[in-house]
Amino acid sequence: MLTLTNSAAAFAAAKQLFPGGVNSPVRSFGSVGGTPPFIARADGSRIFDIDGNEYIDYVGSWGPMIFGHAPKEVVDAVTEAAKNGTSYGAPTLLESRLAALIQKAYPSMEMMRMVNSGTEATMSALRLARGYTGRNKIVKFIGCYHGHSDSLLVSAGSGAATFGMPSSPGVTKNTAADTIAVPYNDVAAIEEVFAKWGEDVAAVIVEPVAGNMGLVLPKDGYLQKLRDLTAKNGTVLIFDEVMCGFRVAVGGAQEAYGITPDLTCLGKVVGGGLPCAVYGGRREIMECVSPAGKVYQAGTLSGNPIAMAAGIAVLTKLIGNADGVDYARKLQRQTEKLVGGLKELADAVGIPVQAHKAGSMFCLFFAAHKVENYDDVSACDFALFTKYFRGMLAEGIYLAPSQYETLFMSAAHTDGDIDRTLTAAKKVFESL
Ligand SMILES: *Cc1c(COP(=O)(O)O)cnc(C)c1O
Repeated sequence: MLTLTNSAAAFAAAKQLFPGGVNSPVRSFGSVGGTPPFIARADGSRIFDIDGNEYIDYVGSWGPMIFGHAPKEVVDAVTEAAKNGTSYGAPTLLESRLAALIQKAYPSMEMMRMVNSGTEATMSALRLARGYTGRNKIVKFIGCYHGHSDSLLVSAGSGAATFGMPSSPGVTKNTAADTIAVPYNDVAAIEEVFAKWGEDVAAVIVEPVAGNMGLVLPKDGYLQKLRDLTAKNGTVLIFDEVMCGFRVAVGGAQEAYGITPDLTCLGKVVGGGLPCAVYGGRREIMECVSPAGKVYQAGTLSGNPIAMAAGIAVLTKLIGNADGVDYARKLQRQTEKLVGGLKELADAVGIPVQAHKAGSMFCLFFAAHKVENYDDVSACDFALFTKYFRGMLAEGIYLAPSQYETLFMSAAHTDGDIDRTLTAAKKVFESL
């Protein structure tokens, strides 16, 4: 059995300091119960808690750690950068170097702006879309997550294509009313929105590969439909690739599916595990951002030199092909091996699962039905998921503590790690 004595004490103490004991909700293990391990350190594919337990980590800080934990290139780059000062609030060459690397993989980002979090990137991109079009309404999809800014904490009103309702106290009805929330992968629903409000819609924001309701892939032709409808109506199409960027493909979903959005948001991998995110896209739109244009957006620590150095180190390795390894292929192969193995093991004991994967992202839904939208995810067997999660944790496999989350392969995961994970899964499946 897993001993979490020190973590339990730390969690109790942290609850006096932080709401729920954490600085971001999912870390509290709320939906699966029990004590979240407090992490002492991490290295490669492994994380270690303050009770001395070691885990193979498939959370990877929720996506950024594409080369695993503490890769030498990043540690060296960050250490060097820090020696030169940690922030200046003035332009540097590092920002332009990271931007050039990003453009190599995302040519649609003709201009960009560095920010500090995915939340800031999407919030700023939406303000920009509104400023550019002079329209108020935005469309988001149920189950897609774009950070915690007010206009995105909105759930669907009653019936398809109606005004949104606040999904959190503190978000005003008026703010929510400008957000229209529709089901993902539902062509009729988005057509209805444009039939009703086409001229008023400033932006459609979408996770082109959805990773915040588990991993849900776009149906054939769905992204093209969004592209066609937005183009026809003069609406800005925003791909929120904060999670799927660099993971579905190096060039994100826009490369994988061959669809060019007007604006793109990146985060997570782009900062190499430091606080950094980016929004950017068509020059004509981006030139509306202050001080080139009138749409205000700023940040004391934006383009922070340490974060830039980490991002440059990661992207150089990933897209600069610095060491001659095709990491995208390697990650995809490892992911296929693990996900294929998990599916086989579940099938062997008759547990119905939907095994989804895209590049280095993957997820196991406990369901016999196809999973194509948020309602499908909500109909999964959560009790079974929780048992699986707890069993895997006890076996030293660290998974996301929710059926609504995606898992991430890193280039530091070895064949041995995958074999160990499958051995653990076999044992856990047989015990369910
Ligand atoms: C994580 C995430 C965000 C929010 O990023 P933060 O850095 O947590 O603010 C936005 N969009 C998507 C798709 C994400 O996965």
